[in-house]
Amino acid sequence: MKDTKRLTDIIVIGGGPAGLLLSSKAGRQLTVRVVEKNRLGQTSKFWLTAERRLVQHDLAAAAQYRTKRATLGTFQGSFAFAEGQFTVINDTVLLRLLLERCKNSGVHLLENTKVLSISKQKENLAVQTTDGEYYARLILDASGGNSPFASTFRLHRLEGFYSIFGGHLENLNLKSDDIIGAHVIHFGHPAPIFEIIPTSSTSAFCCVFIIAKEAVDPQRLAKSFEEHIFHNPFFTVNQQFTHNQDLKMGLIPIGRIKRRGMPGVLPVGEAGMLQSPLLGAALNEVLEQADRIINCIMYGFRNQSSGIIHPHLGLPLTKTLNDRLQLALVKPLLDGTLSSFERLVEFLKAVGPSRVYRLFGTELELRDMPTIAWALAHYLLHSQ
Ligand SMILES: Cc1cc2nc3c(=O)[nH]c(=O)nc-3n(C[C@H](O)[C@H](O)[C@H](O)COP(=O)(O)OP(=O)(O)OC[C@H]3O[C@@H](n4cnc5c(N)ncnc54)[C@H](O)[C@@H]3O)c2cc1C
Repeated sequence: MKDTKRLTDIIVIGGGPAGLLLSSKAGRQLTVRVVEKNRLGQTSKFWLTAERRLVQHDLAAAAQYRTKRATLGTFQGSFAFAEGQFTVINDTVLLRLLLERCKNSGVHLLENTKVLSISKQKENLAVQTTDGEYYARLILDASGGNSPFASTFRLHRLEGFYSIFGGHLENLNLKSDDIIGAHVIHFGHPAPIFEIIPTSSTSAFCCVFIIAKEAVDPQRLAKSFEEHIFHNPFFTVNQQFTHNQDLKMGLIPIGRIKRRGMPGVLPVGEAGMLQSPLLGAALNEVLEQADRIINCIMYGFRNQSSGIIHPHLGLPLTKTLNDRLQLALVKPLLDGTLSSFERLVEFLKAVGPSRVYRLFGTELELRDMPTIAWALAHYLLHSQ
């Protein structure tokens, strides 16, 4: 006999921003349990998004810093701009706000508990965890980009990874409040890109990342990160400089989800590849698509009073086109050469700053398409 206390309408695997945002919304009408393998409210990631997406979910309080320009280049003469409303998120505040909302919606929160496997039963799905078995009619796989379930069931077509290593640096003498993505020092192969995302006039999330077919060992990136901190044209460090208190690192998969799904399991957030591959911006996409996902889930529960729910999430055509375009742009970068990166910079220059912002933010409009198509043809021709 099944313990009914262990049965909820939905089990959400993963208490990252995707899992918590969707749980807080679904929890208003359905019974929801979140299972997180680590402590809730912590992350080794940082997030950049567009202000309007935070406002859309009443999360503007999580905004830490706003800036209007991003610069991408090799800083050997070639660089391009993106112009728009960039907002850097305070990850601790964002996760705290979402956790409070989950608690207010009556969501069951289970931390330090790992989901080990999922099995199908007659009327529901059984979720085996390190805390025993739980049951639900629907599972949201919000376990992130390296989702063990997505890879086990081969639900992704992976092309490569962004391997990222960095941290939050304080007491910097920043020379500009632009977001920077640059090839500064390029020892070795593939060449690391240095990224600076200001969080105040004297602090920033800084990291090095490598775009390649294979994941790169964090230790290799750690060494490159040290070199970049002390030798770059964008900031100097002053005597009170601190770093590595708050390490930010991980992998962002580059690829796309396959159509075939697991019955009763809806992958969301980075696990659902709801991301634009060029930016690795799954959080952006979670914020953008959250209400659509919730409507799809509610529709499933309204139309089926018992048994496993099979939601079919349809995404807008413009989103699919945008993702495909970004994947086409990022694929040539997987060879890790400086010349591929330079060709991307040339493409971005041809497209123009406000269109680059819309491209990065997955919000291209139909009127952007002729310029993009022309520049893309040129880019792909020279990437052969
Ligand atoms: C350094 C770095 C910087 C980034 N910057 C940005 C950015 O600026 N903008 C942006 O949009 N995206 C960024 N990303 C991508 C980022 O991963 C996603 O945007 C975001 O974290 C996706 O949220 P998520 O909830 O889908 O997944 P995650 O944040 O990865 O959360 C998944 C959760 O699932 C848990 N989990 C995994 N497996 C299990 C299991 N078996 N059982 C229980 N729990 C499990 C994990 O512990 C984790 O808490 C960045 C990533 C990295 C690594």
